[in-house]
Amino acid sequence: MKSIRKFTVRAVVPARLGALEELAANLRWAWHEPTRRLFEQIDPDAWARSERDPVTFLGEIDPSKLEALAGDDEYVARADRERDALRAYLAEPRWYQGIDGETPRLVAYFSPEYGIAAALPQYSGGLGILAGDHLKAASDLGVPIVAVGLFYKAGYFSQSISSDGWQQERYPVQDPDGLPLSVLRRPDGSAVQISIALPGGATLAARVWRAAVGRVTLLLLDTDVPANADDMRGVTDRLYGGGSEHRLLQELLLGIGGVRAIRAWSELTGASAPEVFHMNEGHAGFLGLERISSYIGEGLGFAEALQLVRAGTVFTTHTPVPAGIDRFDRALVERYVTPELLPGVDPADALALGVEPGADPATSAFNMAIMGLRLAGHANGVSELHGRVSRRMFGSLWPGFDPEEVPITSITNGVHAPTWIDPALTALAERTLGTDDSEHADWLSPAVGDAELWAVKRQMRERLVGDARRRLAAAFVEQHPGASAPDWITRALDPDALTVGFARRVPTYKRLTLMLQDPERLTAILTDPERPVQFVIAGKSHPADDEGKRLIQQLVQFAARPELRERIVFLPDYDMAMAETLYPGCDVWLNNPLRPLEACGTSGMKAAMNAALNLSILDGWWAEYAAEDYGWVIPSADSAGDAGERDAREAAALYDLLEHRIVPAFYDRPAVDPVQSGYFERDADRVPAEWVRMLRTTLTRLAPELGADRMVRDYVERLYRPAASRFGAMVADDARAARGFAAWAAKVRAAWPQVAVLHVESGGLDQPAVGDELHVRAEVALGGLDAGDVAVELVSGRSTAADVLTDAERTPLAAVGGGSWEGTVTLDRAGSFGYTVRVVPAHPLLADPAELGLIAVAG
Ligand SMILES: *Cc1c(COP(=O)(O)O)cnc(C)c1O
Repeated sequence: MKSIRKFTVRAVVPARLGALEELAANLRWAWHEPTRRLFEQIDPDAWARSERDPVTFLGEIDPSKLEALAGDDEYVARADRERDALRAYLAEPRWYQGIDGETPRLVAYFSPEYGIAAALPQYSGGLGILAGDHLKAASDLGVPIVAVGLFYKAGYFSQSISSDGWQQERYPVQDPDGLPLSVLRRPDGSAVQISIALPGGATLAARVWRAAVGRVTLLLLDTDVPANADDMRGVTDRLYGGGSEHRLLQELLLGIGGVRAIRAWSELTGASAPEVFHMNEGHAGFLGLERISSYIGEGLGFAEALQLVRAGTVFTTHTPVPAGIDRFDRALVERYVTPELLPGVDPADALALGVEPGADPATSAFNMAIMGLRLAGHANGVSELHGRVSRRMFGSLWPGFDPEEVPITSITNGVHAPTWIDPALTALAERTLGTDDSEHADWLSPAVGDAELWAVKRQMRERLVGDARRRLAAAFVEQHPGASAPDWITRALDPDALTVGFARRVPTYKRLTLMLQDPERLTAILTDPERPVQFVIAGKSHPADDEGKRLIQQLVQFAARPELRERIVFLPDYDMAMAETLYPGCDVWLNNPLRPLEACGTSGMKAAMNAALNLSILDGWWAEYAAEDYGWVIPSADSAGDAGERDAREAAALYDLLEHRIVPAFYDRPAVDPVQSGYFERDADRVPAEWVRMLRTTLTRLAPELGADRMVRDYVERLYRPAASRFGAMVADDARAARGFAAWAAKVRAAWPQVAVLHVESGGLDQPAVGDELHVRAEVALGGLDAGDVAVELVSGRSTAADVLTDAERTPLAAVGGGSWEGTVTLDRAGSFGYTVRVVPAHPLLADPAELGLIAVAG
């Protein structure tokens, strides 16, 4: 019989074990091993069944077990100690509290998805995991963040594979009462309800779930409340599901409702208002419009409010793939963006923010990334290469500026080490190096023996093999109800074989099936009797992406061949729980996207932190960190004639590396003196010395660069602090500076069509030589602006055959009256030299010369 309704009854924990409830209520357990061990010890089997989620776990274990434990003084004392440690973690000053100078009092972080723990599946892939890692690292560093997202009743989806290899999606419903969440309530006990206006006088209401992610508060909006009509209750049903109207409703709720939720939360907790708003991708872009609306309510005009919002807003773009960017029909957005939704905002002003540069404003799609960039005065990509790609991709928002000057910087993503480093590696660091901080430990130290490190690696590989067999058996039984799993599954994968991992979402550009380009060659690599290689593969395709599902099917069918199935496996339902054993269990982590479409990629970082070597196209993070000791570069065939040739060449390079470099490095194991090495030598025990040296170097030199702690510090120093100080300057004295700056920007914009460099003359150098000085005088038309409103600059550098300036330097020219500017540069190197003169707006509150997208160049 099926129940018609389901809810979770929270456990009643004996008073003496109150510490356990306090520990379960803060998601810090997701990355705090001692806390997890405290729970696990109560009942290891139930712990594993609960997916290691303390809240579910406490609800499921036998109450008599808890009663008995309450009498165990030693256990109770340990639980109390962990609780005290958590309290100290939450209260004590951390890195942020020691920074000199002004820092933002609060940063608001918006993301459509969060990957914090397997038990809270509110993510689809890298974007969400990154958001989770950002919050955890911010917590560890003491950065004051309040985060906002949506609570999706069915999360993303859970994947299984039919017997013909086709992806099946299931949407198991999450019960928030069984999760580490609590409803945001007023002191009288009533639940806070947020609402936004819909067309035709209706409203969309949401309750607010609150999660404690260490020191960070995460607010998740949930429309499944009685106040909503049935269809509106389902607005937050699924992540990235439904059509575009559904999606727009989610994003309106996230952006507008999210700001309102923070306001409600601040009023209840007395927290100060955020000075910085960070949009993790464009989905939350409407937050800027909600803030503009409220500043208009305080008496500012739209343009003034926009300047104020821009000053304190950070936008992070995450993808150069057009399909990854939300674009809505203009007519759809027009229907929703009403004065009731955003009081005081003229809908035409709001719609203009999403118009794509160069498109007809009347028909342009409404582009969320473009709106994000217009609402944020600070923007970044997520690796150096992605920063360069983004500057080109979005350059038309700053017409006339060279790509290098486009104000989009980059901060390379990082991963949260305490979440992702395997406890076995941490334990080894503790035992041998005396630190539990594996990320920053010196693994090159002789205190860690080669054999010890190798043994731990084997142990992690063995755990992956066991986990993979369990998953394969479960998948088989699901496909063949009533049957028992076949014998070969117990032999699938070998804990001593070179293990290559590949797991990611399955959009086409990630090329899941590149490895199948030459099936015979791959087969030979997999089935080598002496030196076998095994592949562990996983990944979900977006439910609407049949192309991706076909790729999965190809791979699943290849892996099903009887002669290969013990060497190449596809594991269904890639998620954080699988990732936890997958990265540590792999020796090599494979990544072969179409360069430069992988903005950063973080799975390879997690693998590196777990003593795996990377084998990757030079894209994303690997493009800036690749080095001989960290793995291998698959050369990109950028010059290939077509996509087919490119795939073939890159796949051939991949096989070459495996056959000639990777397999020998893994299997060539010089004999060691058993007496000196101190252990009895079997062949399998022999340590691949060169490989282990690479692992040590990767762990010691590379891992600390890849941490989310490094990333969050970069955000604080390079984006949050400048944004907060700019916002502070703009908002002071009833937004006096924002008003002045907006008026100035309007004046400059109006005058700009008349601004021109009329004439340039230079002191005639007959035979220029290094060391000579070039004097330049320029005559400039200002179209009614003052000399102080502009900067006139000499731009000089190498000049290519096509007269393009490269390595250009800018030298300010000085106003000498009468519409003229003058200055001098020294010719400091030989070779072709070119120069020009340009005019850009100048104002003390301008974040960047390109900010207004206005420029006038000579000639
Ligand atoms: C890290 C991670 C990702 C992101 O990996 P990419 O390399 O960026 O594709 C996706 N899913 C899970 C479960 C992860 O742990």
